[in-house]
Amino acid sequence: MPISFEMSETTALAREHFHAMAAEHLRPISRKYDVQEHDLPTEWVEWYWNHGRKGGPEKAGPSDGFIQVCVQTEELCWGDAGLYLRTPFAGLGGSAVAAAGTPEQKKAFLSVFQGDGPPAWGAMAITEANAGSDSAAIETTATRDGDDWILNGTKIFCTGGEGASQAPGGFVVVWATVDKSAGRGGIKAFVVPAGTPGMTLVGLENKLGIRASDTATLMFESCRVPMQNLLGSAEVRKKKAGASTGDKGDKGFKGAMATFDASRPIVAAMAVGVGRAALDYVLEELARQEIEVRYDAPPAEQTALERDVIEMQAELQAARLLTWRAASMMNRGRPNSLEASMAKAKAGLAVTRITQKAVELLGPLGYSKKLLVEKWMRDAKINDIYEGTQQINQLIVARRILDYPSSMLR
Ligand SMILES: Cc1cc2nc3c(=O)[nH]c(=O)nc-3n(C[C@H](O)[C@H](O)[C@H](O)COP(=O)(O)OP(=O)(O)OC[C@H]3O[C@@H](n4cnc5c(N)ncnc54)[C@H](O)[C@@H]3O)c2cc1C
Repeated sequence: MPISFEMSETTALAREHFHAMAAEHLRPISRKYDVQEHDLPTEWVEWYWNHGRKGGPEKAGPSDGFIQVCVQTEELCWGDAGLYLRTPFAGLGGSAVAAAGTPEQKKAFLSVFQGDGPPAWGAMAITEANAGSDSAAIETTATRDGDDWILNGTKIFCTGGEGASQAPGGFVVVWATVDKSAGRGGIKAFVVPAGTPGMTLVGLENKLGIRASDTATLMFESCRVPMQNLLGSAEVRKKKAGASTGDKGDKGFKGAMATFDASRPIVAAMAVGVGRAALDYVLEELARQEIEVRYDAPPAEQTALERDVIEMQAELQAARLLTWRAASMMNRGRPNSLEASMAKAKAGLAVTRITQKAVELLGPLGYSKKLLVEKWMRDAKINDIYEGTQQINQLIVARRILDYPSSMLR
């Protein structure tokens, strides 16, 4: 198949549409909700729910599918990554339902996001005090009781956790073990609808960046959900002696893990959006000061500034192209775990470097709160942490390239 670096006309139109949305609705309130960290950005939430999600971009032929989603994400995060994460949508929880849910579950949990009810949110709760990168260490339990599952445990750092646990119609996808002795094979994902008794919002994090996003601690105490809220099968595959994991063939855990193959390119696109915001500002400032970047000057004659800007542009474009490659593989239904992790690792590193360099190049103004550049530097770092840290994504890349199981490369 020939490789095309051209965006389709439909995607180009979508880019314009979402860029205008970001410029008009996100940028103007960006600082406000960076300061008012835990306030609901009502002007954005209500506008998006009532208008933004409905009036789609123009179509001019077939869409680029998942690449278009990455382009839209880049544009909205160019506007503001924290507000993007606070947008009423199904989020990572929705991706898990889409990846591992039955048609009935998809209808039951996702149709609210197309409906006319009040704004709703979805979230995914995996991380615990003793289980982050090593999700097999999850201690939250799910115990069968007749036709129900009963959840007990505490989840931390759940993005969208306030909206998803409190606002009617939303839900939190909670990872819990049904059999600790089975390791990963015992871990299942459960959909817990907002307002379910026993699910409590314990608190919200006070964060460095993406401060408009609600990052919640959720407690589950005898939290009862019906059997049909389990994503995938209830069957537990026990770990065999010498095997690296017990998850082979388990659609529940593997299905939920497959969420990452779709979500990592999205996080990479978010990183590219934040990086581009900073780079665009640097280029605008250079233009204002009538400083030209001589792309064609021999390296020995280029100034340090020119080299920095060219490197920032190259890093951003490399991250974007890896992101689009992972997305294009999804479009073609090809396994993309390697490419998704590559894109995520590259983009996480690129955005932290680009935004830090932007602060540096702009001098004291870059460090000042008069501009959003210092904010973008703070917003950047999370892309190197969630959805698998930089180190974990590099490990996944190494394992896939070398064809080593996780037991041999950890
Ligand atoms: C703002 C924010 C939002 C988040 N949103 C969500 C969410 O919506 N849902 C959710 O479930 N979680 C969420 N998280 C949690 C996030 O996914 C975890 O923080 C992340 O997976 C890392 O886990 P940990 O914090 O326990 O760190 P640890 O796993 O303890 O890692 C600490 C450090 O050690 C490194 N490390 C760990 N293992 C290895 C290894 N084998 N080799 C090399 N280095 C290693 C890590 O890379 C990291 O640098 C969020 C976190 C933040 C900060």
